[in-house]
Amino acid sequence: MGLRAQALKSGIEKRHLSELEQLFLEGVTDKEYGIYRDIKAVKTAIKGQDGGVVTSLLVEGMKKGLFDSAIVVYRQNGFQAEAVIAENVSDIRMAKGSKYQLVSVAGKLVEAVKEKGKKKIAVVGLPCQVLGIREIQKAMPEVEIFVIGLFCMENFVYRLLRQSVGELLKVDLDLAEKANITKGNFIVTNEGKQVSCKVSELQEAVRIGCSFCTDFTSRLADISVGSVGSPDGYSTVITRSRKGEELFRLLKDLKETSADRDEIDRLASWKERKGFEKLKQEFSSLLG
Ligand SMILES: Cc1cc2nc3c(=O)[nH]c(=O)nc-3n(C[C@H](O)[C@H](O)[C@H](O)COP(=O)(O)OP(=O)(O)OC[C@H]3O[C@@H](n4cnc5c(N)ncnc54)[C@H](O)[C@@H]3O)c2cc1C
Repeated sequence: MGLRAQALKSGIEKRHLSELEQLFLEGVTDKEYGIYRDIKAVKTAIKGQDGGVVTSLLVEGMKKGLFDSAIVVYRQNGFQAEAVIAENVSDIRMAKGSKYQLVSVAGKLVEAVKEKGKKKIAVVGLPCQVLGIREIQKAMPEVEIFVIGLFCMENFVYRLLRQSVGELLKVDLDLAEKANITKGNFIVTNEGKQVSCKVSELQEAVRIGCSFCTDFTSRLADISVGSVGSPDGYSTVITRSRKGEELFRLLKDLKETSADRDEIDRLASWKERKGFEKLKQEFSSLLG
């Protein structure tokens, strides 16, 4: 974080992000959520965490041959999670749903290339991971990579999250059917019943790095997907490159409604402000 504060002060961070944007994205620029071509709220026939868009993009992209493998995250041993290389449509479908923890998708991407010889890959990641994935992509220009980024306000240390949820909601997260975050609430479905608490009550379980993060919408992805800005059961989709657009066009039988851009703007700018303030607070001597 100290290095990041220095990169920020010297202007290196801004230049670096802008270079990556130039290299991979193409569209108009919005101050809050970056370069984009289109923003929509859509729902697919697949029942996913929200509109099933991520799973549908991966399924259709693989069927069409845009890629032959996808790095996705499976739920393992209760609510723990791990990244896997999905090589067919049923593997992709098994990865539906958000797992609120950091999983090494970038490591799996490198494994897919180096150990399995994959040349056309899709990868799903959080904003912090998308940045790393773009660096990997720069170093491996011979590999075709489709990057799907998720919106993310914060992520959790699973052990601490399970402990906090157990204390607050009297539910063992390992045994829960689903967990999701909507409008500032952390909602757990267990034995068909929903219990919830405010996400702000789970702050002790949040990963420390998240408080310095300034990217809510995965600004460097080919296509970003999240729930904020959409009604329940829909996903907000931001296409940011021709590749993202090509992938999005493959989706069939879409239900569409308009996305609430003000809500996305509000949360994206809030996260950015909060992250920079935290950096300033922790590294005041460096940032002045
Ligand atoms: C940790 C986390 C925090 C999030 N925070 C927000 C938020 O604050 N606001 C918001 O609007 N949206 C947030 N999202 C995104 C949201 O929960 C949904 O993932 C998104 O709306 C896509 O829904 P879907 O139905 O299209 O996805 P689905 O079709 O259900 O597919 C989900 C995909 O996400 C992948 N995935 C799941 N967990 C992870 C993970 N930990 N790391 C990498 N890939 C993963 C799966 O492999 C799968 O391919 C968050 C997601 C995660 C994982």
